[in-house]
Amino acid sequence: MEVAMISTRASLLILILSLCSPYKFIQSPMDFGPLNLLPTTTTASSDFGRILFHSPAAVLRPQSSGDISMLLSFLSGLSLSKVTLEARGAGHSIHGQAQALDGIVVEMRSLPAEMEFHRGGEGQVSYADVSGGVMWIELLEQSLKLGLAPRSWTDYLYLIVGGTLSNAGISGQTFKHGPQISNVLQLEVVTGRGEIVKCSPSKDADLFNAVLGGLGQFGIITRARILLQEAPQKVTWVRAFYDDFSIFTRDQELLVSIPDLVDYVEGFIVLNEQSLHSSSIAFPATVDFSPDFGTKNSPKIYYCIEFAVHDYQHKNTNVHHAQRPSRPRHERRRVKAARWLKLKKKSADFRDLLMDKISPDSIEGLILIYPFLRDRWDTNTSMVSGSTDRAMYVVGILRSANPDPEDGCSHHCLQELLLRHRRIADTAGARLGAKQYLSHHPTPSGWHQHFGQRWERFVERKARFDPLRILGPGQGILPRTQDAAAAAYGS
Ligand code: FAD
Repeated sequence: MEVAMISTRASLLILILSLCSPYKFIQSPMDFGPLNLLPTTTTASSDFGRILFHSPAAVLRPQSSGDISMLLSFLSGLSLSKVTLEARGAGHSIHGQAQALDGIVVEMRSLPAEMEFHRGGEGQVSYADVSGGVMWIELLEQSLKLGLAPRSWTDYLYLIVGGTLSNAGISGQTFKHGPQISNVLQLEVVTGRGEIVKCSPSKDADLFNAVLGGLGQFGIITRARILLQEAPQKVTWVRAFYDDFSIFTRDQELLVSIPDLVDYVEGFIVLNEQSLHSSSIAFPATVDFSPDFGTKNSPKIYYCIEFAVHDYQHKNTNVHHAQRPSRPRHERRRVKAARWLKLKKKSADFRDLLMDKISPDSIEGLILIYPFLRDRWDTNTSMVSGSTDRAMYVVGILRSANPDPEDGCSHHCLQELLLRHRRIADTAGARLGAKQYLSHHPTPSGWHQHFGQRWERFVERKARFDPLRILGPGQGILPRTQDAAAAAYGS
């Protein structure tokens, strides 16, 4: 073991010298003993967005949290180095958030996919202890074997536990159970100093809260205790179409106001034929719905609520699809619900802003729009929501561009699209106080504005848990500089 340690330290020293050098020594796989450091891989220098391709100098495929700790402890002893380190989950970021230009990328998928389940008795909670590199789909598949399921999901489940907990993890269950970061009991984290810490709301709570929604800035999540619930035997899944935005949002607000009766609520804008059929999950071909989308000069748009109710009585696991436009079944409760849930008209303003900037016939993809209740969010986490209203809306523009050089979106066209989206985000921020989820801010001042009053707390937490600013370079929030090193070392 001692020999291995010495060889690891020597290897790390070679690595650091390589990283600090103006020359790139790393040309081929190197033997870093138990740490298995590799030269850059094509996956480590790209992501889902395929907009940025930043090559790291090396890649770590850890076998345990101890591997990550060893590397970070070593790096945090080198105050003059500029080496940074980024955790990469499934790489489903859009703007290079999981990349580390000339730094080290830690591929979290290489951690053993451990999952241990605990079924709570009467009145107790059920949970799973999982590795930070496990995918949500893997957790769901294993927990279903025990008749259990995570309470709060993302729409798409091929994402990594550590990756979504670094953001928030939102979907149609957020109104009921809160985002995924509100459904975690305990974390194991490797801080920027290399310490392995088990934290929870009652132990090292500040680290726990910092890491949740922390954009990978304070520590690397190597293990998480995720709340589970009984999986329903049957789900009634309803889609209701609207041509009136105010009735659409009114019904959505009604549904989220009765979380005891409803288990899932989402909604989206149907802009054109393409958005109607782009998702076979949202609109199976058998749907008996042929809307008139109007003309280019006079477009007509529609709205769709999708909600689900769990049924724990039935043994039959078939999902029932509502096939035709329908009204939510709980209308009789509307008057009562409206009394305690008053949403501002910001969602309508956002819709107008979007329609002002986007031409319905040109957009490919979906625009999600659905509300959830604010009291399901823990304001101690690093996630900022911006709203002080009782409820808030999430608006997601899920848009893609064809990269084909012949008939697709050129570099110039892509930059135009990105600029247009930035304008929408900036205008929504300035006019409506909206915050960008999965944010990407080109400048540190943009981040300062994003965090608003929470900025001081964010910077203070960074100084405590990652004083040399080794972690999370891909987000571009607090770049590693000599000033940071001087501040950390008090000189
Ligand atoms: P990566 O892209 O690998 O990493 C992203 C960031 O997380 C990096 O900054 C990295 O440092 C940090 N990170 C990764 N792993 C760890 C770790 N173990 N510890 C600490 N920090 C870590 N989001 C939703 O909320 N709801 C959705 O329904 C949803 N659907 C999506 C569908 C698609 C097709 C895509 C592409 C994205 C979707 N997202 C959704 C966004 C998604 O949650 C984020 O992109 C998330 O970061 C993806 O996780 P990942 O493992 O791929 O992260």
